[in-house]
Amino acid sequence: MVYSADDKRYEMMTYRRSGKSGLKLPAISLGLWHNFGGIDKYENGRAMVRRAFDLGITHFDLANNYGPPAGSAEETFGRILRDDFRTYRDEMIISTKAGYYMWPGPYGEWGSKKSLVASLDQSLTRLGLDYVDIYYHHRPDQDTPLEETMSALDLIVRQGKALYVGLSNYSPEMTLEASRILKDLGTPCLIHQPQYSMFARGPEHGLLDVLEEEGIGSIAFSPLNKGILTDRYLNGIAPDSRAAGPSVFMNPSELTDEVLNKVAKLNEMAKERGQKLSQMALAWTLRGGKVTSALIGASKVSQIEDAVGTINNLSFTDEELARIESILA
Ligand code: NDP
Repeated sequence: MVYSADDKRYEMMTYRRSGKSGLKLPAISLGLWHNFGGIDKYENGRAMVRRAFDLGITHFDLANNYGPPAGSAEETFGRILRDDFRTYRDEMIISTKAGYYMWPGPYGEWGSKKSLVASLDQSLTRLGLDYVDIYYHHRPDQDTPLEETMSALDLIVRQGKALYVGLSNYSPEMTLEASRILKDLGTPCLIHQPQYSMFARGPEHGLLDVLEEEGIGSIAFSPLNKGILTDRYLNGIAPDSRAAGPSVFMNPSELTDEVLNKVAKLNEMAKERGQKLSQMALAWTLRGGKVTSALIGASKVSQIEDAVGTINNLSFTDEELARIESILA
């Protein structure tokens, strides 16, 4: 059936400015790291992107290597764009990245100008697009001069192949240095993509301060800690869960008694707030306004609906925040 987006799609989402830029992102964004690869069911991925867009999610995050196999998530998303979203491109913010291993030889990963430019050309072909909205350097490269990596990002924007640039997994120190280089080049860094959740607090140790000082936005990846900060694992490991599946990025050994005990207490607290744990975890990530958007993953449409439901209660009392800290301690 021909897809026609819900007319009410902008009524349920809130949009937050990314740093000091002109760009607003939805409070909840959808990442295609898992469940959109060549091994996954096309119609399920398609249904998730449709539902997300109907609920006001305008931002979709990819990388050259998402799949498996690597590259296939971009191909899947390209197919969804062609099938359903031809007339909606100007309502969408599409990002991709390069930096992790993608093809053999010295140019298939890290941060040389050769690698970043070639990888984006490949991504655009897979996506069937002329440009992406945000292009990220996916991980820092200690061997390539930072000036070269940043000038590659600047070049790509000048060529019209990306509108904005971002950094992912960079330390506070490297982010500051990269941001200054990018400002000098005239292509300020739009956004940083770090891992951030109740169970991954790294950005609180310097990064969020640097981003604020530099006027850079942030988008928190794995805000549900890959599904652990939900009710998913409270009654064992379901066969359709990420922990039971083939992903090499999640091992059932992460689900220790200590972790599950904390999750159970957080789940009780979420219920008292009239929310699901997944919703409380996303609201927590967005608290205080330092994080622009929470970048979720999903394996089914209902998880996207849960995530968007977070918007109904984003606030915490000081007592609630203290209670969360004592559970996590
Ligand atoms: P999350 O922490 O949001 O985990 C998503 C998973 O949690 C889902 O696939 C699902 O797993 C489970 N889940 C989601 N909602 C619910 C719910 N309501 N109830 C129960 N379970 C739920 O994020 P991801 O780890 O998927 O990462 C999100 C995105 O972040 C990626 O797609 C990617 O775009 C980006 N990313 C970036 C990285 C980087 O280096 N820059 C690294 C990693 C991710 P299940 O399969 O069990 O249903």
